[in-house]
Amino acid sequence: MKIDLAKSQAAFERAKRLIPGGVNSPARAFGAVGGHPLFIDRAKGAYLFDLDGNRFIDYIGSWGPMILGHAHEQVIESIVDAAQRGTSYGAPTQNESRIAELILGAFPSMQRVRLVSSGTEATMSAIRVARGFTRRDRIVKFSGCYHGHVDSLLVSAGSAAATLGVPDSPGVTPGTSQDTIVLNYNDSQAVRETLDQLGQHIAAVILEPIVGNMGTVIPTPEFLKTLREETQRHGVVLIFDEVMTGFRVAYGGAQQIFGIEPDMTTLGKIVGGGLPLAAYGGRSEIMDQVMPAGKVYQAGTLSGNPLATAAGAKTLELLRDDPPYEYLESLGKRLGDGLLAAAKEHGVSAQLQRVGSMMTLFFNPDPVVDWPSADRSDRKLFAKYFWGLIERGVYMPCSQFEALFFSRAHSVEDIDRTIQAAVDFFSEHAHGR
Ligand SMILES: *Cc1c(COP(=O)(O)O)cnc(C)c1O
Repeated sequence: MKIDLAKSQAAFERAKRLIPGGVNSPARAFGAVGGHPLFIDRAKGAYLFDLDGNRFIDYIGSWGPMILGHAHEQVIESIVDAAQRGTSYGAPTQNESRIAELILGAFPSMQRVRLVSSGTEATMSAIRVARGFTRRDRIVKFSGCYHGHVDSLLVSAGSAAATLGVPDSPGVTPGTSQDTIVLNYNDSQAVRETLDQLGQHIAAVILEPIVGNMGTVIPTPEFLKTLREETQRHGVVLIFDEVMTGFRVAYGGAQQIFGIEPDMTTLGKIVGGGLPLAAYGGRSEIMDQVMPAGKVYQAGTLSGNPLATAAGAKTLELLRDDPPYEYLESLGKRLGDGLLAAAKEHGVSAQLQRVGSMMTLFFNPDPVVDWPSADRSDRKLFAKYFWGLIERGVYMPCSQFEALFFSRAHSVEDIDRTIQAAVDFFSEHAHGR
């Protein structure tokens, strides 16, 4: 290793004695790339600084939220101001309506929105509401799509045809997952057949309308169109899980890009500006089922927390009033083209799949359209690539099956240094060193 990581290593040893696996969320443990995780001391703009004093250009952005860059001054100011007025009341505040207005303004498909504290809570609640609204039990998800650690959604099964769900995790009972039907992403025919056969038992179809959680996978327009038509025909609630894509791929998320309105939407990550806040919403007819307007129970002590709504509302206002999306697109194209060229020039077959500031370089000879094709990627090469870039001051997501993100705070120079790091890695790799 060309850089010193001793303090991170010691911190990880300590954490492992206290916390399962040393981390509070498994994606942080570097399990897919080996070695130990870097412990972060602070972050500013486009950069992460670890305990050993190394600086990295950050391509995780807290796994999505930090679209304005770390420690954005106006966002921090809003949080400090809110903290001085008290950190939680358990009573309503005006900032909850302020952020709800911003969300509904960005997503015309939503007429009402409920604030929660994590993306998991948002998808779990959306499923419950869809079931309550339709009085049906079953749900359809797609293998490779991640919707948080909700029991009924921790199923990916991953075979080509419609499969009854088998749980991915001990502790998820077959009883919970047996109502989950798993299909392949981008498989319009399977959607049609499943809804024709079982439509009257299906409450909801949930998907990432652009996938980030098997790496970046883009739906065919035909797939989304089929989903919209078939769910409508069978009275099934269509849920777009835009926890990752909302305010990321466009201000109004993937549904704005594709011009398709789902019945319900879940949001998280960017919507909280780096604090724990998420949301679910949809047509008023559906959302008015939620207690106390209706009978579907959902609640939270810290829901709509004053610090989180302050950070989230300020972030959304900054995105609305001075949209970064053209800038992010131009940087994204530069980075994507550069990484792909670096790989190809050194004989590595790769696919660069990207929407704006969200992308994945798959070490895969073929385009990735679903989980079976993603699964054929070269994980070993990815692990080398990851550490090769860490050594060169670039912090990529630590798995082949994650999207990278960058922010408005990243400069052209940061992007070019990243491309150079990749060029250096691939050339070293090609020479077998
Ligand atoms: C991150 C993510 C979630 C889960 O959100 P948490 O805040 O981690 O619970 C759900 N759905 C998608 C698409 C995500 O990317």
